[in-house]
Amino acid sequence: MAILIAADFDAGEWARWWPLLQAALPNERLLRDRHGAASHEIDIALVANPPLGSLRGLPNLRLIQSLWAGVDRLLTDASVPTDVPLARLVDPAMNEAMAQTALWAVLSLQRGFFDYAAQQRERVWRQHALRRADETTVAVLGLGQMGRAVARRLAQHGWHVLGWSRGAAAAVEGVECHAGERSLPRVLAQAQVVVNLLPLTPETRGLFDAARLAQLPRGASLVNLARGAHVVEADLLAALASGQLRRAVLDVFATEPLPAAHPFWLHPAVTVLPHVAAPTDPRSAATIAARNVLALRAGRALENLVDRTRGY
Ligand code: NAP
Repeated sequence: MAILIAADFDAGEWARWWPLLQAALPNERLLRDRHGAASHEIDIALVANPPLGSLRGLPNLRLIQSLWAGVDRLLTDASVPTDVPLARLVDPAMNEAMAQTALWAVLSLQRGFFDYAAQQRERVWRQHALRRADETTVAVLGLGQMGRAVARRLAQHGWHVLGWSRGAAAAVEGVECHAGERSLPRVLAQAQVVVNLLPLTPETRGLFDAARLAQLPRGASLVNLARGAHVVEADLLAALASGQLRRAVLDVFATEPLPAAHPFWLHPAVTVLPHVAAPTDPRSAATIAARNVLALRAGRALENLVDRTRGY
């Protein structure tokens, strides 16, 4: 049998991933494309933004293992077989990277460091009143792998943290947890900063529209580290223009790379990152992905399977 690596890697990414995957799976036949084996020989696919249709016509496929944490693209690709288990990457190193990014964003917002960076460009020496962390409420939407790590880290640093998830209210140390759509307006109404860490599903697509943004206190800020399609970008721009939102820190966008003409690039109240909040680290990810391959071969239970009906 053989493992197809279906990825949109450039030459540099292949150079990093290939030796790590070979080292993690020394007894497996790894393929960089489908020409290396007959379709019926491929029983596992390791995928990273696979080109559309890459997994079509593989009759013996038994596992699709994503090398990325988010699987929203795979769930909307009609050529990905729905009867094959789909596992996503869960890597503590990525949770840590996400916690660091959220800490930087929330700290910079609360202490005015983005404003001071703008002042420096104008050679303005002006000091603003200090606002303490314990006077600032931060809402973390999504309390999964990333959201829990972020909420915990922010609470450890003294912010008043509200968490929001879908099912039963989660338990995260130091965090006031809420669950369900009905509680969201109450959570948002208290938040000076919202950090979005929801998965992209039919329920969460376009969540941050004009009506939701209006539920925040005037002058709140949005930190979107999850998926661009959670935000209605025109509504976000309007909320910034009206002063309803003070600032947005955005790592993800409806279209990536962010088009050169997009108003976010030069907007004085928007900080743009090029989707780097929690990058996959091939050094840990190759080993984690290999664990599921070895589990399948040994007949053990697979880890981190995606629930296709929930969408995450
Ligand atoms: P996850 O482990 O699947 O957690 C999802 C969380 O969201 C869970 O707490 C879930 O609630 C909650 N949720 C789902 N649907 C909901 C709804 N309709 N209403 C309320 N809560 C809902 O996800 P993750 O691995 O933490 O990833 C979070 C996001 O980060 C994803 O969008 C992912 O694509 C993105 N991401 C971004 C980067 C980057 O570099 N920017 C890197 C990796 C991941 P329950 O607990 O009740 O199920």
